[in-house]
Amino acid sequence: MQLSIASIRERRGASLPFDFIVPPDQWAPLGGEAAALAPVHVHGHVTNTGESMLVQGEASGEFGLVCARCLQPIRASLRAPLEERFRRQTGRSPQREREWDETLGDSDGEDDARSYHGDWLNLEDAVREALLLQVPMKPVCRPDCRGLCPQCGANLNQGDCGCETETVDPRLAALREWAKPRPKSNEPR
Ligand SMILES: [Zn+2]
Ligand SMILES: [Zn+2]
Repeated sequence: MQLSIASIRERRGASLPFDFIVPPDQWAPLGGEAAALAPVHVHGHVTNTGESMLVQGEASGEFGLVCARCLQPIRASLRAPLEERFRRQTGRSPQREREWDETLGDSDGEDDARSYHGDWLNLEDAVREALLLQVPMKPVCRPDCRGLCPQCGANLNQGDCGCETETVDPRLAALREWAKPRPKSNEPR
């Protein structure tokens, strides 16, 4: 996902469209496990703002996740907005770089721009991070997924397993045990 900005590098205000289709086999899984199941589509435009290259667009694709309840594979469509600034890497030290930012009046004081060398922006990290933000913390195969039986591990979406699934708070269980009528002792003393 290398984007050539040679044609706009010297033209402040100029912008350039881009469109990438990355085949799934050339895409490393997101966060180590969410593999791409279809081509990943990345498109948008890059603008020379004078101070940096501003990339704006969208990334989307189909990814394989795992249901957090029943552990079955899920196919999830993810769509992420892209907005990243790239600044040309110079020979300046980080300290000089910071002073430079202050002269430019960077309002937040924190440089969140990525760097680039020569005439190429590498969009891969930005795209991966944007998509990763869209992966749900606890993906589910469907909102009413019944999950796995805590006792036998059966997938409850495929029917009841027949286990006693009543869950009792252990403290309540102890209380219940204590409250049971005690059998009268008929044992001779
Ligand atoms: Zn599920
Ligand atoms: Zn069960």
